[in-house]
Amino acid sequence: MPLLRSAFIALSQNRILRQFSERSIVGRRMSSRFVAGMEIDDALRVAEAVNRQGMAVTLDSLGESVTSETEAHQAADIYHQLLDAIATRKLNANISVKLTQMGLQLSSALAESIAWKLAEHAGRLGNFVRIDMEDSSLTQLTLDIVRRLHARPEVRAAIGTVIQAYHYRSQADIEQLLASGIRVRLCKGAYNEPAEVAFPRKSDVNANYIRLSEMLLDSPVYHGLATHDEAMIEAAKSFARQRGIDAGRFEFQMLYGVRRDLQRRLVRDGYKVRVYVPFGRDWYPYFMRRLAERPANVIFLAKNFFRA
Ligand SMILES: Cc1cc2nc3c(=O)[nH]c(=O)nc-3n(C[C@H](O)[C@H](O)[C@H](O)COP(=O)(O)OP(=O)(O)OC[C@H]3O[C@@H](n4cnc5c(N)ncnc54)[C@H](O)[C@@H]3O)c2cc1C
Repeated sequence: MPLLRSAFIALSQNRILRQFSERSIVGRRMSSRFVAGMEIDDALRVAEAVNRQGMAVTLDSLGESVTSETEAHQAADIYHQLLDAIATRKLNANISVKLTQMGLQLSSALAESIAWKLAEHAGRLGNFVRIDMEDSSLTQLTLDIVRRLHARPEVRAAIGTVIQAYHYRSQADIEQLLASGIRVRLCKGAYNEPAEVAFPRKSDVNANYIRLSEMLLDSPVYHGLATHDEAMIEAAKSFARQRGIDAGRFEFQMLYGVRRDLQRRLVRDGYKVRVYVPFGRDWYPYFMRRLAERPANVIFLAKNFFRA
């Protein structure tokens, strides 16, 4: 299984396969299990439907690693449109943004200024920007930008980030983020990382996830626990119960199309759930990371494809 995971992550970076898949009808149909659609309207329609089921949403306009400043501004423009549309349609939704899509690999100042404008826009509307976490070469840069933005009073309430439990450094990062009162989404981590920076063994990642989620739950800040792993979810629920932490003080987060049964069950049991809804034409790397997490998805998707 770890081999298959690495193979899918490697394939997620293959340009030729990416170009072919993103243009093919078969590829688009396959991706629709995890991707809301190609256009903003598709994402908004899905967000409305998810809201009707009692769950909040975070919208991700797919795309990473832009190659020009113009592309970075175009990517940001979609998020500005989303923020306005969320407000107009009174959706229970915020946005999730990747700094590489905002030009981080071209210039850190460019990404920071674009992220500031988004957070400022979100703040004016009472909304929120989550800065997604990418691979380990960008962890420090991302956290530095988030900390600097959070230090600016006009956007303080509108910005948060993500910590990946597979990193050795994550406990120290969470301590620092909590000291500043920054909202965290905790996930296990979706990239191929070397043993020098991340736990190679899944059991260690899981143990760290539980430890870190307890730190977050114990803090007065509102955080998100992003996982489909029932053991992680049960551990968080039981820790919250023991400490008398109200279910309204945190949320579980899951990906669109993954464990819908579990999403519904949590809502029924009185927990807050937010669904991560990605959309857009650049769906290939995101889709391949979802296959990496559960290679059995290939069989599942192929069966559904031929059934349809
Ligand atoms: C809301 C949200 C935001 C995220 N943001 C980031 C981010 O910013 N940076 C980052 O690196 N990662 C991010 N991730 C991905 C995360 O790091 C994991 O790769 C992913 O969530 C799988 O881990 P897991 O906790 O579900 O546990 P796993 O141990 O991988 O899976 C536990 C169980 O969940 C189910 N499951 C998990 N994934 C899938 C899938 N794709 N399809 C079907 N079933 C599945 C399976 O039943 C599996 O046995 C995010 C995840 C979520 C839910």
